[in-house]
Amino acid sequence: MNSSAHRAPTPSPSASDVLIVGAGPVGLLLANLLGARGITTVLFDKRTEPLTSSMAIGITPPSLDILSVLELDGVFRDAGVPVRHAEVYELGTRVGRLDFAGIASNYPFFLSLPQARTVEILRQNLAKFPSVTIHDGIEFSELQQDAHGVRASFRDSTTGTCFESHGRFLIGADGHKSAVRSATGLSVRERQYPQRFIMADFMDDSGLGNEARLFFTPEASIESFPLPDGFRRWIVQVYGAQDNTPIDYLIRTVRRLTGFDLGQRTARYFSAFGAKRMVVDSYHAGRVLLAGDAAHVMSSIGGQGMNTGFADAEMLAAILPTVLRSPEQMSRSLAAYDRIRRRSYEVAANRAERGMWLGTRRGRFASWFRKHLIRDVLFSPLMERHLAPHFAMLTVPYRNLNWVPRDFLATE
Ligand SMILES: Cc1cc2nc3c(=O)[nH]c(=O)nc-3n(C[C@H](O)[C@H](O)[C@H](O)COP(=O)(O)OP(=O)(O)OC[C@H]3O[C@@H](n4cnc5c(N)ncnc54)[C@H](O)[C@@H]3O)c2cc1C
Repeated sequence: MNSSAHRAPTPSPSASDVLIVGAGPVGLLLANLLGARGITTVLFDKRTEPLTSSMAIGITPPSLDILSVLELDGVFRDAGVPVRHAEVYELGTRVGRLDFAGIASNYPFFLSLPQARTVEILRQNLAKFPSVTIHDGIEFSELQQDAHGVRASFRDSTTGTCFESHGRFLIGADGHKSAVRSATGLSVRERQYPQRFIMADFMDDSGLGNEARLFFTPEASIESFPLPDGFRRWIVQVYGAQDNTPIDYLIRTVRRLTGFDLGQRTARYFSAFGAKRMVVDSYHAGRVLLAGDAAHVMSSIGGQGMNTGFADAEMLAAILPTVLRSPEQMSRSLAAYDRIRRRSYEVAANRAERGMWLGTRRGRFASWFRKHLIRDVLFSPLMERHLAPHFAMLTVPYRNLNWVPRDFLATE
């Protein structure tokens, strides 16, 4: 991996303040924020090769606020495409235009940047923090904890060596199938949605520039977003058991329903995916805390999963230093973490669910209803000014620490 400077030898069982399992976007952001506070942090990821799939592309203004603490907002801004407006079409008729220019933020746009690049930037930035070490190719398997800390077991996938590492706290940021969550015995509430999608990134000659566009039709919904390096993502709703739907289906459907011809260009990151909703019953068990997809999943069509995870990381980085210094604050702080981050998740997940529901209703009547709802209600003069802040996540409670009352955070 390109962060080879951090690829330390298999760790010995020494004690650290914080162990993080999972160097996805959430674990990496947390490691950066803890590093900036001088907290001894060891980060493990089972991956031996960099992430290649694209996944998240939408970074919201509250997340850019969080990144600004690390002085990375400009780096992200330069690497991505600021999307300043989005247009919504129903059956070929324009029914609304979202303009982010007037939102109350230093970042009047959402930033489009593939997740692989987000991960790369956050990894590179870790080099600034001597208190943080990252180990790749190391898989977490189990843990034991007592009143003072957590002892976790790992396996080095290259050498097969098993070893233990000890931390005063352990953070599971190891994604939706979280082995850390399983090891704690925490259970989840989970629901699979019936909707399925395929997506791919193509060289862009659509002429849409930096505009995002949503196409709703009686047959399927299609979303299209600009990407860096002259690419554009197309996401198409599919039906039935079409997991292996060929890319020709995507190209044909886009041409038929939008009029845009993607031609026969090679696509990057072709993938098929479903949508689910999941939340863990408690965000912590003793000294083990969960963040990001390990704690919660929402429909990726809402584009808020990683952003919600970023706010988890930000709050953890605010409470852990205090709790490390003042253990008597622990139960109050961890309870606040659960309450605040769960509330934020619920709102974001409900919005993602409603948005996906509305966009994926099929049939003539649904299309007629959606057209009037979007054009005559949502984009009516009374409602319109609320829409851009809503989609920029400026109205999600506790969207970042600026919106968390100080008395929710432990103080010395
Ligand atoms: C198609 C798609 C589009 C999306 N678009 C958006 C979007 O636009 N905006 C948005 O906010 N979100 C979006 N999301 C959601 C977003 O991708 C996730 O919320 C995000 O990846 C969560 O980050 P994470 O760090 O919590 O977990 P992950 O990204 O899953 O990272 C977990 C890490 O843990 C490691 N790991 C796992 N198990 C172990 C183990 N046992 N030991 C050691 N390491 C382990 C993995 O290798 C991985 O590196 C999208 C998702 C999909 C599928």
